[in-house]
Amino acid sequence: MEHDEEEGLKWGKSTVETACPLDCPDNCTLAVSVERGKIVKIDGGTSHSLTNGYICAKVRNFADHVYGDDRLKYPAVRKGPKGKGELTRVSWDEALELIASKMRDVRERSGGEAILPLCYGGSNGMLTQDTTDAELFRRLGASRLARTVCAAPTGAANQALYGKMPGVTFQDYPQSKLIVIWGANPSSSSVHLVKLVREAQKNGAKLVVLDPRRTPLAKHADLHLRVHPGTDLVVALALHRYLFENGFADQRFLAEHTTGAEQLRAKAEPWTIERAAEISHLDPADLARFAEMWASISPAVMRCGWGLERNRNGGHAAMAILALPAVAGKFGVRGGGYSMSNSAAWKPYLKNWVDAEEPQTRIINMNQMGQALTDLRDPKIELVFVYNCNPVATLPDQNHLIRGLIREDLFTVVFDQVKTDTAMYADVVLPNTTFLESYDLAKSYGSYAMQMIKPVIDAVGESRSNMEVFSELAARLDLLPDRATEPESDVEILLNVLNHLPDEARDALTTKGIAIPPMGPSPVQFVDVFPRTSDGKVHLHPEDLPTLAPEGLYSYQPDPATEKYPLALISPASEKTISSMMGELRTRIAMLHMNAEDGAARGLEDEDAVRVFNDLGEVHCLVRLSTDIARGTVSLPKGLWRKSTMNRSTPNALAPDTLTDLGGGACFNDARVEVTKILDATFEGTTVSLYVPAPVDKSGTVH
Ligand code: SF4
Repeated sequence: MEHDEEEGLKWGKSTVETACPLDCPDNCTLAVSVERGKIVKIDGGTSHSLTNGYICAKVRNFADHVYGDDRLKYPAVRKGPKGKGELTRVSWDEALELIASKMRDVRERSGGEAILPLCYGGSNGMLTQDTTDAELFRRLGASRLARTVCAAPTGAANQALYGKMPGVTFQDYPQSKLIVIWGANPSSSSVHLVKLVREAQKNGAKLVVLDPRRTPLAKHADLHLRVHPGTDLVVALALHRYLFENGFADQRFLAEHTTGAEQLRAKAEPWTIERAAEISHLDPADLARFAEMWASISPAVMRCGWGLERNRNGGHAAMAILALPAVAGKFGVRGGGYSMSNSAAWKPYLKNWVDAEEPQTRIINMNQMGQALTDLRDPKIELVFVYNCNPVATLPDQNHLIRGLIREDLFTVVFDQVKTDTAMYADVVLPNTTFLESYDLAKSYGSYAMQMIKPVIDAVGESRSNMEVFSELAARLDLLPDRATEPESDVEILLNVLNHLPDEARDALTTKGIAIPPMGPSPVQFVDVFPRTSDGKVHLHPEDLPTLAPEGLYSYQPDPATEKYPLALISPASEKTISSMMGELRTRIAMLHMNAEDGAARGLEDEDAVRVFNDLGEVHCLVRLSTDIARGTVSLPKGLWRKSTMNRSTPNALAPDTLTDLGGGACFNDARVEVTKILDATFEGTTVSLYVPAPVDKSGTVH
């Protein structure tokens, strides 16, 4: 006991307040208890009013990720064939020198564009991307990446209509009398909104949920519309038609604050309630009821999620949905308007902190990474640096991507916290700190808070931060910014970014750990904040907006289902992972959710082993039959790791690499599949599975 007390004194026992930067709108304040230098508890803090002492189970258990068996602790180089993940430990000096020399060679031989940074949100902190990484890759003249795997179509829609006007904060939802949750499941990915929606319902608000699944909130909704994936656009257009045709369009608001109302009305004109209901697999009476509610109840708020963007019509669907508060005149009152991502809320107040000019090098869309790695020439990609991202688990057309990663003439660096599916193809693996081991800033996209993140434990193993590693590489390549003569530390980078914030925000972050932008914590749309478009108006039909839809803005592209592949496969966020982060902690084979009638039609029983397939690939998993999902739709979790299926192939192997109508986004929910049972046989009274895991050939393709 005496010894323990001494140890306690030596190491200290404390609770540190920090914040969660992970890819979730809520941006909680955290209270992290540390004992003897190790995390013993992660709980909710109270500095951010939205958190209010409560956090999700994912981050409550984040220590399992920090200290888990898959955690990368040392730099290492590949010693076996690509795909095997066999590694030999090396020193940081050896690893960085190898990477720097490869970058130098590739750049001299083929030009900077033969180098590609492949990254997305990662921990989502403001310092882990677009700081020293941008300084390095810009100075190298590397190819640029279109970071489009998520939020690109909704972002393009919000930008085009409103210039990304700040949205209704979740804390204002209890003021609403009608809440529409469209393509979002806050129970999995924004838990604090659930409580506020329930509070609004207690105050008398009506709730409408649009989702092919019976989500937890859908169970409590006054109206649940099981929209068929990819048809949200026609549902929204039918509402517009109803508003215009029945005298519910707010003509005064439209005349004063919008452009393009007449063109939008014309695009909506063909979409009667009956026609839209038939295409979207809805009961026309339910759709008519939704239209009546939206027309007649105020304050009304539209929570536009990201589920509706992941298909060929996703950008126009988001535009049509975001246009509904304008046409129905829902703005100008607390609890009325729309919520989308608030990630741009701070933009007018932030100065650029990257010194290097952005070179006009080619742009590669990350949703077509398989094609980029196998087909691009002049120059072909010779070096890919993967960070903040696990592309094998998160990008479309998985088998094509793996064919690219397996190229012997491709040098791949993976810089991550754990040994991901992508790390299995790496030539060099670098261990990365988590947000509990280094400084960062976290900007909420659900509320308006910006919070300071502090290291609460020492870096695990030899892991290092993004800022440090990219700065060190820049130094080795003689590409440091003018402000630095040697590699910059995390604290120096933090101070540099803080110095580019408004004085008040910087002071609030350094003294209280949390800052709010000058417009305040809960602005009312069209009272405190207005569209950030060129003329301050809502552009309901932005004429020069580039679109891939052959027939122009708001045109519907039909369902890609065929007789061979009739089922729509969706892969929504789950309660276990944040995108693919923490996917290594899943221990069970994934369940395909399927409507019981669709299952019966295929002779399936609950928990059968099934083969989900199309021409791009196949996934072997178990099936869960219920009425919690609409007929014609099946669902597997987003961000699955390969070990979570029986044949090491995930839903991304079934997703096409086609692009959305706006923004170059991913079309995960355009995967159309068939499902069959993997047969069992009974032998002397014992059931024997005839399932044999499909082999993976040299190209990485699963057969
Ligand atoms: S993932 Fe979201 S809900 Fe969970 S702790 Fe982070 S911000 Fe809060």
